[in-house]
Amino acid sequence: MKTTIIGYPRIGSQRELKFASEKYFKGEISSEELQETAKKLRYENLEIQRKSDLDIIPSNDFSFYDGMLDTAVLLNALPERYLDLGLSELDTYFAAARGYQGEKGDVKALAMKKWFNTNYHYMVPEIGDDTAIRLVGSKPFDLFSEALQNGVKTKPVIIGAYTFLKLSRFMGTKKAEDFVEETAAAYIEILWKFSEANAEWVQLDEPCLVMDMNETDKRLFVGLYEKILGNKGSIKVLLQTYFGDVRDCYNELCGLPFDGVGLDFVEGKQTIDLVLKNGFPKDKVLFAGIVNGKNIWRNNYEKTLEIIEKIISKCGEIVLNTSCSLLHVPYTLENEAKLTEDVKKHFAFAKEKLGELAELKKISASHDPRETPEFKANSALMNETRSGENAAVHNRVNELSEKDHTRLPEFSEREKMQKNRFKLPLFPTTTIGSFPQTAEVRMTRSDFKKGAISEEQYDEFMKNRIKDCIELQEKLGLDVLVHGEFERNDMVEYFGECLDGYIFTEKAWVQSYGTRCVKPPVVWGDISRAKPMTVKWSKYAQSCTDKPVKGMLTGPVTILNWSFPREDISLRESALQIALAIRDEVLDLEANGISIIQVDEAALREKLPLRKSDWKSDYLDWAIPAFRLVHSGVKPETQIHTHMCYSEFADIITDIDDMDADVITFEASRSDLTILDVLKANDFRTEVGPGVYDIHSPRVPSKEEIKTALRKMLDKIPAEKLWVNPDCGLKTRGKAETVPSLENLVNAAKELRNENK
Ligand code: GLN
Ligand code: ZN
Repeated sequence: MKTTIIGYPRIGSQRELKFASEKYFKGEISSEELQETAKKLRYENLEIQRKSDLDIIPSNDFSFYDGMLDTAVLLNALPERYLDLGLSELDTYFAAARGYQGEKGDVKALAMKKWFNTNYHYMVPEIGDDTAIRLVGSKPFDLFSEALQNGVKTKPVIIGAYTFLKLSRFMGTKKAEDFVEETAAAYIEILWKFSEANAEWVQLDEPCLVMDMNETDKRLFVGLYEKILGNKGSIKVLLQTYFGDVRDCYNELCGLPFDGVGLDFVEGKQTIDLVLKNGFPKDKVLFAGIVNGKNIWRNNYEKTLEIIEKIISKCGEIVLNTSCSLLHVPYTLENEAKLTEDVKKHFAFAKEKLGELAELKKISASHDPRETPEFKANSALMNETRSGENAAVHNRVNELSEKDHTRLPEFSEREKMQKNRFKLPLFPTTTIGSFPQTAEVRMTRSDFKKGAISEEQYDEFMKNRIKDCIELQEKLGLDVLVHGEFERNDMVEYFGECLDGYIFTEKAWVQSYGTRCVKPPVVWGDISRAKPMTVKWSKYAQSCTDKPVKGMLTGPVTILNWSFPREDISLRESALQIALAIRDEVLDLEANGISIIQVDEAALREKLPLRKSDWKSDYLDWAIPAFRLVHSGVKPETQIHTHMCYSEFADIITDIDDMDADVITFEASRSDLTILDVLKANDFRTEVGPGVYDIHSPRVPSKEEIKTALRKMLDKIPAEKLWVNPDCGLKTRGKAETVPSLENLVNAAKELRNENK
């Protein structure tokens, strides 16, 4: 059995590409210097893979920004507005990626979207009626020859024709179906060029095949590949899928003359059954994705071996593969000096996963695989109980019953009691939580972390910020205040650091988009709350004012979605553990006089399964109850708010209502307010604060503009349910635009109040 991977991380183990690119953007280094860094990183990656004994090494998995954008450039699908700037090739590319504002013009970047169910984002290609798709770029060929010069015949990796068309935005009247001929022709040319260059395999990535597919989709897929494969020359084509199973097109896929098919046995729930029930064509190579490309835990060799043993009789040649590109995991554990060996031995980052593939190859080649030292060592590791077990937490989760997820009395009764208690005016005004964070705030946090200032000094500094923030909000005339979140750099990391069971890495960066990386914390063991996490700040903030100050927490689903989760227990169980910890905090806040508590679920929608049929059973059925667990214990008069970043929840609107919060705020200013129709149509009972202005832009919205937005909202939402707030936290904004924006917001609400008396 041979081994391969779908792709390797490209940002650099020390984020070299990020830093070089950012220097280049600032004009601090030349394009030659940036290219030099990129080349060096590619060489290092090649060397690592070669030394790890990987049989088939990918190329063209490198990108200066994003692989979808690379494909758009390759296929002549870059909108004219970028080409018209008359910039160099590289700068035109970056203009599409990041937008351009300078002497040559002013253009916005292409839209960016989440890449399937990962935290990576891709650039959305735009295809207009006059876009002429044809092969114009040379990057895949250049990188193939570069690797060849370095002594490795690689497997070039390109986004496949179907996924490229499915993920593109069609700007005119033409649709994907209208581009089949020319797209197929471009891919044929790509394959011929690689034949000429003497490549053996070309990998075409088609993750869109794991989504729900209707008949039109299937026709598009089959139509494209009948053409492409009918004229591909001698090159071997690998159809690579990932992030799930291909249940809707398995037979079509087996019937097409691909030379290899890559299937995901990790995330693909039905992959193994598809292969066992339908068989797998013996004339194709099965690239079996058995090493998880998305998570950081060691592979369980016993489980992997079981899969291999099951499928081996059904297929011909098997190549051992990762389940998806390693882009989604950090580089290497070698960078983690602070983690103990006891912890590290359970982890495998990208480089270590190469080691696992090599071991698995060796194990499966042995006539007695379970007797190999590699297998035995792995079994021993898997059987070890990790240090993070906490029986008390297990018991608490096991003892949960329906009543723990049910808040009483029911919504409308609470609503009355709360109206009575708070006596807020019509259209109450509030913000989402964070206020602008100055360099001084960030520096003080980091000084405290480093031990450069004492806890007393730190607390005093933070309290002063809180006091100023409360004063500002009172002056502005907001009705429900916040403490400002100055103690947090990130809404998940902060809680991760306060909770027992989390582990933090030093260098485990993962690309989020372009030069942006995130460092997700790791759910290591059972999660519990050692001590109150926010009570000190909220209590102090409340002591500064007679108006209610919202307690501010992050919800269990968002905390989990932005972490590396455990694999030894279910997501449901981890979510419930986190929910219990947050619940304790909620009750502590309440006991300390906090009357309104906001539990943010910014990322709730993000991890919805790719297939609609899995939404409930695989996700919402635990995510929504986990949220309810957080707040079901509070008194009826305590008001629970939640916040979500995207209003793209039309299709799960009843589940959002089922979260049973008293108030929800969400982003609505950039969307066309269609969400309001959905709220109305579904008789949404939770009170709502659709954001009245976009905080992602430094623009100050006028009072009139805000009033217009509110009037539109009032057409659809009963006046007594409408809140007035910005669409997200103000952390990344400056004070200069925040103050006038909020002034206008408060005045707009006041004027509307008078009109509605
Ligand atoms: N309360 C958080 C803030 O205001 C919410 C952040 C978010 O929605 N991403 O910053
Ligand atoms: Zn938000």
